[in-house]
Amino acid sequence: MSTRRTPEAVSFVLALFVVAILNIPFWRLFYRVLAPQSAYEWSFMAAVFVALLATAYLSFLLLAVRPLLRLLAGLLLILTAAASYFMLEYGTVIDVNMVRNVLETNLAEAGDLMTAKLFAYVAVLGLLPAALLWFVPIEWPGMREDFWRKLKSAAVALPIIAVILFPFVPALTSTFRENIALRLTLTPSNFIDALNKYARSKYKVARVNVVQPIGTDAVRVPAAGARPALFVIVVGETARADHFSLNGYERATNPRLSEVADLINYPYASSCGTDTAESVPCMFSGLGRENFSNSEAASRQNLLDVLARVGFDVIWRENQAGCKGVCDRIKTEILTGLKHPTFYAHSENHDDVLVDGLAEQIKGLKKDTVIVMHMMGSHGPAYWERYPPQFETFKPVCRESQFSRCTRESIINAYDNTIIYSDHVLARLIGILQTGAGTADTGMIYMSDHGESLGENNIYLHGMPYAMAPEAQTHVPMVAWLSEPLRKRTLSDIGCLKHSAERKRSHDNLFHSVLGILDVKTNIYDSSLDLFVPCRNRKVLGAGGVATPVSLH
Ligand SMILES: [Zn+2]
Repeated sequence: MSTRRTPEAVSFVLALFVVAILNIPFWRLFYRVLAPQSAYEWSFMAAVFVALLATAYLSFLLLAVRPLLRLLAGLLLILTAAASYFMLEYGTVIDVNMVRNVLETNLAEAGDLMTAKLFAYVAVLGLLPAALLWFVPIEWPGMREDFWRKLKSAAVALPIIAVILFPFVPALTSTFRENIALRLTLTPSNFIDALNKYARSKYKVARVNVVQPIGTDAVRVPAAGARPALFVIVVGETARADHFSLNGYERATNPRLSEVADLINYPYASSCGTDTAESVPCMFSGLGRENFSNSEAASRQNLLDVLARVGFDVIWRENQAGCKGVCDRIKTEILTGLKHPTFYAHSENHDDVLVDGLAEQIKGLKKDTVIVMHMMGSHGPAYWERYPPQFETFKPVCRESQFSRCTRESIINAYDNTIIYSDHVLARLIGILQTGAGTADTGMIYMSDHGESLGENNIYLHGMPYAMAPEAQTHVPMVAWLSEPLRKRTLSDIGCLKHSAERKRSHDNLFHSVLGILDVKTNIYDSSLDLFVPCRNRKVLGAGGVATPVSLH
């Protein structure tokens, strides 16, 4: 009788050991976050366990090639044991910053962490299993048989993962999205992902030196007698167009913006991507959705660089999780007041902080200025944390990131309250710009970075691949407001602007519209994408005047 083990058996034991033992920090946190009460929640935990076990099994089986398995799996066991120890001992998570600290720290600092306890832990839970793996006899199949057996295992395990997780998709997305800490506690995926991010960021830093300039011919040609310009670009977060009453939503979610007489509302605007990391670089890149890729955008300058080059003071005000590289070369003010940058779900500041101090800034304005305000907006799933209590208009409100514990109605209530609060912030901004128009040519444009699914077809949150994303994730609210002096100077007619806003618009319009309204001339400017250009050089009529009939092309 042979005591040799099949690669399948070895992979299964390794997977069980990693998922059940080395991931105790993960299960401890998962239990605390979920605090399971109902049968559904206990089943959810069990389903995650089975799915992780199956995933780990398949991963080890892929490594189960003769020279690789003992070496790579052994190394993985040792590193995973060390990661597990750090998380247990220091209650920490493992992310790219942690990996950077470990890899870029000096030996003396690292020495403080090298305790006897660490060595004991790694010896028992890492080295010992690695040694056992080294000496266990394995019955290696031939190459062809090995291939078919791996394929068979995958054919069994993958459907099991899909079927077992399917009933829990909403719980899964809300739990793992909200609790970044949970993802960063799951090992070894946490340090593998962090190592990968670290390597990529190193690569990116190397590329920063070769960021291609764009619009090098740009010059600003302001009209004679122009006063200092102050233009605000507001990048919204997770707001969906059909939850704006400006766009026909039956709930009064725009009580203040709907009172702004000369507001230009774009009811048919679409986003470039379905998540922040894609949409934000895209809208400033000038590449347009068709030609956009993150790497292409990272390798070249953007709208803000061009504006800075022609002499604007450009300031990025950040109340969210970062500008995704757009403000890399731009003065940036971080307003989040975060205790820990990883856990941005709990930003301490509501979006009013973006507008605070702006009135004073305009009074002292000497230079042409562009300010980008990056809102926290409607970032989920903790919608109820996005607005101060007095904006809680629709009740009851879901106060759980675990959506399965809330009714869909209470989730939507919380979400709609975030829209009412954003409406207040935007109207407050316009009010300040209106007052500031006494001394400066003020204006603003707002667009959300993407929308949000709110339970339609059981889908929540956002980030689906664009081609299959529901409209809820890509149809975004967009508004603009130009002060009367700015409209006069650019000979823009408000009736025409409102009329032409009824057409299909997108993130692609931002780049060219901002260049156009700020009188920046460059070869990369495309007037066909400028929102304001069809209405320029028209006679501006007084309040009692009749709008000039306009032909729209
Ligand atoms: Zn976003």
